[in-house]
Amino acid sequence: MEITLLKGDITLQQVDIIVNAANTSLLGGGGVDGAIHRAGGSNILEECIKIRNREGGCAVGEAVITSAGKLPSKYVIHTVGPAWNGGNSNEKNKLAQCYENSLLLAEEKQATSICFPNISTGIYRFPKHAAATIAIGVVKKNQSKSLEEVRFVCFDEENHRIYKELLQR
Ligand code: ADP
Repeated sequence: MEITLLKGDITLQQVDIIVNAANTSLLGGGGVDGAIHRAGGSNILEECIKIRNREGGCAVGEAVITSAGKLPSKYVIHTVGPAWNGGNSNEKNKLAQCYENSLLLAEEKQATSICFPNISTGIYRFPKHAAATIAIGVVKKNQSKSLEEVRFVCFDEENHRIYKELLQR
């Protein structure tokens, strides 16, 4: 399994699965969530609403999967990152769970490629260096047999620089 890094827009990635940094309501929001729903069209939101009606939404650290609507990928995994609250509210474990649970769902779908955004580092204000360390740590430990590529897609320059540095070590 190869870990790759790209600075760009996750909605444009041609991979089996892109991951969305959603919120517990699954009803869409700002940031990458808004971008995915805008580009993917209403089918994704309709599937999210069905999951919400069935399961009451998605808890922090958990992940659910929908089709990808008009996006070039096959599926979208919606995972809910923790909002940063000073670091003493289990944020680090919850963020790790987002990556772990997304990778488990990807394996279930026998996906060969997946893209992650920098979960929680936007509106939820998780410190970027700590978030990147967690994300890379979980991905490196991952035992998936199907995945051939895990791509980190950084939207902002700062995250891209941090990932570049950490991945070169
Ligand atoms: P959160 O609420 O989990 O912090 P945000 O969407 O606010 O979610 O931010 C998560 C990350 O997604 C941020 O690093 C932000 O720069 C990034 N981001 C925003 N739009 C896109 C996009 N189109 N593609 C990839 N990443 C994006």
